[in-house]
Amino acid sequence: MKEIVQLGEHEALRMKAQDVPLKDIQSKKIQDIIADMKETLEKEPDGAALAAPQIGVPLRIFLLAEKVFGVDSSHKAASKDPHLVFINPVIIKRSGKKALMDEGCLSLRGKYGTIQRSTNVTVEAYDEHGKKFTRGAGGLLAQAFQHECDHFDGVLFCDGAKELWDVDMSEQKKN
Ligand code: ZN
Repeated sequence: MKEIVQLGEHEALRMKAQDVPLKDIQSKKIQDIIADMKETLEKEPDGAALAAPQIGVPLRIFLLAEKVFGVDSSHKAASKDPHLVFINPVIIKRSGKKALMDEGCLSLRGKYGTIQRSTNVTVEAYDEHGKKFTRGAGGLLAQAFQHECDHFDGVLFCDGAKELWDVDMSEQKKN
């Protein structure tokens, strides 16, 4: 299992991440990174998603936690193939409509804030088998897609937050 790096601990958090060459998606190196990310995310009770730069790897890969789909009923029909792994994701469409949303990040523990996010987005990406797919999302999932894609540009939610506040971590553990 890898540690989730915190802001200031690793340059990957602030770098522009690289695309994964398509021929490498099935390689041991990339599959090992995905396995490390899965294991790391599973250990986070409040983690909805994780981007590779957060384990110090400057590549464009993010994972969604399975529990995220509990909040997205539109996804049930596709639950046999839930697309939890997003490689080289690109937001190809985003709604002009935005909403102020509460947000946190596993690399900024103890910090929360509010940020303007598009309410709906469509992402194009490759899965862990190298198959291309397109996925639309609204609400929390759309927010997660935007947050994770920002990580690939070295952008953290605190950069664009309207408000930021500290959360008592001992308090948070109860949830
Ligand atoms: Zn984050």
